[in-house]
Amino acid sequence: MLDTSSQGGQRKPPMYGVQQPTRDEVLTLPRVHISQHPVMAHKLTALRDRHTAPPEFYRLVKEIGELLAYEATASLALETSKTETPLMKTEGHKLAGGIGITPILRAGLGLAEGFREVISDAQVWHLGLRRDERTLQALEYYNQLPHKVNLQVCYAVDPMLATGGSAIDAINILKLRGIPRLSYVGIIAAPYGLQKLAQAHPDIDIYIAALDDGLNDLGYIVPGLGDAGDRQFGTF
Ligand code: URA
Repeated sequence: MLDTSSQGGQRKPPMYGVQQPTRDEVLTLPRVHISQHPVMAHKLTALRDRHTAPPEFYRLVKEIGELLAYEATASLALETSKTETPLMKTEGHKLAGGIGITPILRAGLGLAEGFREVISDAQVWHLGLRRDERTLQALEYYNQLPHKVNLQVCYAVDPMLATGGSAIDAINILKLRGIPRLSYVGIIAAPYGLQKLAQAHPDIDIYIAALDDGLNDLGYIVPGLGDAGDRQFGTF
């Protein structure tokens, strides 16, 4: 339980005194995929840089989204599909069933754009979850999920897996739609949020670009990159 009670008129920061697992303690969690790609590491360093301005930051988030999409879709199911080349009829493959992307607003928008570069006909379902800065609990304020779904998989995308609250809630909401397979895709995770998400939803895959050291008292990932929404959209 987070302790946000007042002491001497001063409210404690939400992660103050909260026990957090180390990186090593979460590295062996099942179904967690941490990118090992050198291009990802290169782009991530540019993304973290405090001097990277919003237009460049957004472009990098999108490119990292493309790389993550490539990794996260590596095990998708295919079905055979007939086609005709200029020379002859032949048999190929197509993805079996639709692909959904759920960007958690607003920080997930850049990642979703990257996914769409890889899978252009993916459906995009927006989900607005905002975290209460005092309690770090996720609050739903926008939900544009269709009532009928026919998807192979849906990817909930949000750059920062900090306390895990929004990610857990987003997967809960998507599970109610009966989608057979769900994954979470983020850029940077803290061990705390990664452990919470993996424990709450052991049946999903989690794809991230990096696992950082931990959360500061305010719930920000360190070393992290700051506020991923503000840095994408220039709202400082
Ligand atoms: N959300 C962010 O944008 N950054 C963090 O470090 C944690 C949550």
